[in-house]
Amino acid sequence: MKRNLGNIVIITLVVLTIIIWIVFPPVREGTQNYERYYAGEVLGSLMILLMCCSLFISTRPKWAEQYFGGLDKMYMTHRRTSTSAFLLMFVHVLTVPISIMNLRLGNYLGMIAFLGIIAIVLPTLSPRIPFLNKLAGKDYEDWKKLHRYVGIFFIIGYVHSITVNAPSAKVAINWTTMFVVLGIASYLYTEVFGRFFKKYLPYTVEAVKHPNNSTTEVTLRPGKEPIKHRHPGQFMFIRFLGDKKMNESHPFTISSAPSEDVLRLTIKASGDFTRHLFQHLKEGTQAVIEGAYGMFDYKLGGQKQIWVAGGIGVTPFLSFVRDLKNDLNRDVDFYYTVRNREEAVFVEEIQEADRKNPRLQTYVRASSTDGSLTIEEIIKNAGGDVRDRDVYMCGPLPMIQAFEKKFLEAGVPAGNIHYEEFNFR
Ligand SMILES: Cc1cc2nc3c(=O)[nH]c(=O)nc-3n(C[C@H](O)[C@H](O)[C@H](O)COP(=O)(O)OP(=O)(O)OC[C@H]3O[C@@H](n4cnc5c(N)ncnc54)[C@H](O)[C@@H]3O)c2cc1C
Repeated sequence: MKRNLGNIVIITLVVLTIIIWIVFPPVREGTQNYERYYAGEVLGSLMILLMCCSLFISTRPKWAEQYFGGLDKMYMTHRRTSTSAFLLMFVHVLTVPISIMNLRLGNYLGMIAFLGIIAIVLPTLSPRIPFLNKLAGKDYEDWKKLHRYVGIFFIIGYVHSITVNAPSAKVAINWTTMFVVLGIASYLYTEVFGRFFKKYLPYTVEAVKHPNNSTTEVTLRPGKEPIKHRHPGQFMFIRFLGDKKMNESHPFTISSAPSEDVLRLTIKASGDFTRHLFQHLKEGTQAVIEGAYGMFDYKLGGQKQIWVAGGIGVTPFLSFVRDLKNDLNRDVDFYYTVRNREEAVFVEEIQEADRKNPRLQTYVRASSTDGSLTIEEIIKNAGGDVRDRDVYMCGPLPMIQAFEKKFLEAGVPAGNIHYEEFNFR
């Protein structure tokens, strides 16, 4: 329940907003097309509320993680609130009566906000729409820079709402204004003030290794103060100084255990930044880290567990395994699947943990030679029944979605299925 409280609060606010507009409707007198104005105002108000939630989540408030199940899940909520606000914006534009003969400043501002938000949101949706993907390009950094301007269009959208010729609705407008203020404050915090309050801690790259031909293992030693790494499986944001291409903030799981006095990251070369890192990162490079975030923590689960890692999704599990002191007090079946054997990293370390922890059973699987991992196999190894298991998964989204469906069909309660989101966009 606590992990869903954030989403419940958002849904409650949406319902409350609708109720407030119903109980305190706008003044009707002298208004032509009253119903359309009324509906348009409700839609605009809901849009402001949802955008405010998105802007708030972008501030990455650590204290709120517990109410969403981790920052990665908060970004999933951010995606949903933003997409809903985007769709409402279209319905709003189609609903409100616009007379070409009587355009006011508010109408022009509305158009600017509408077009600006479209320009920003379409590339966000592009990874999921192949046609747009081609148009928008894949560069996350370019998208992130563009995404920054969304708050400006939020403000323009609000000014539009108070300068346009809409019927007055004091109570509902005051209620909505609260979210405008919160949204603007969140935006300013993210873009301007946050840097003075958030902790960006300096680290030095102590070692760089390549466990295979596409992975970099980076060991980082803290300067004066380490980040607060509360439990294995958490992630942080890092940027490396002194090289323009590496000076971008990217999220990576901490693959070392919290008890270690260094941080270790295991990074797959999958795009521009990570490939550049593979080729050019050197010992002695200075880095800045923000975190740690995330609640992907097997210790919160029950006595019987199944862990499924796909490819580089092994990193949180590496942290779990490295945190063990031969004291695993749960029954765990750990499946580590890769395409080819060479892709699998730190297998010996995982197998060593398997030998030392009688309750840990590991299965390393290369699909090109051993065939793909199946749910039937997982169920068989679990003794024919997985309904009482907690499932922890991390890996490519299609793999997670496919297994989630199969685990649900096999009777695992939805609340027992946990996964780490590797994709924030
Ligand atoms: C919580 C979390 C933990 C992760 N842990 C690991 C890990 O342990 N090891 C590992 O190899 N990878 C991990 N990743 C993925 C890693 O962040 C991306 O692979 C990396 O940022 C890709 O950057 P790129 O420029 O090389 O590739 P690109 O081709 O530019 O990006 C590929 C995709 O990665 C995502 N991405 C890129 N840049 C960022 C960014 N600055 N912030 C957020 N997402 C971005 C986007 O979805 C993008 O579409 C993790 C991601 C998340 C969200």
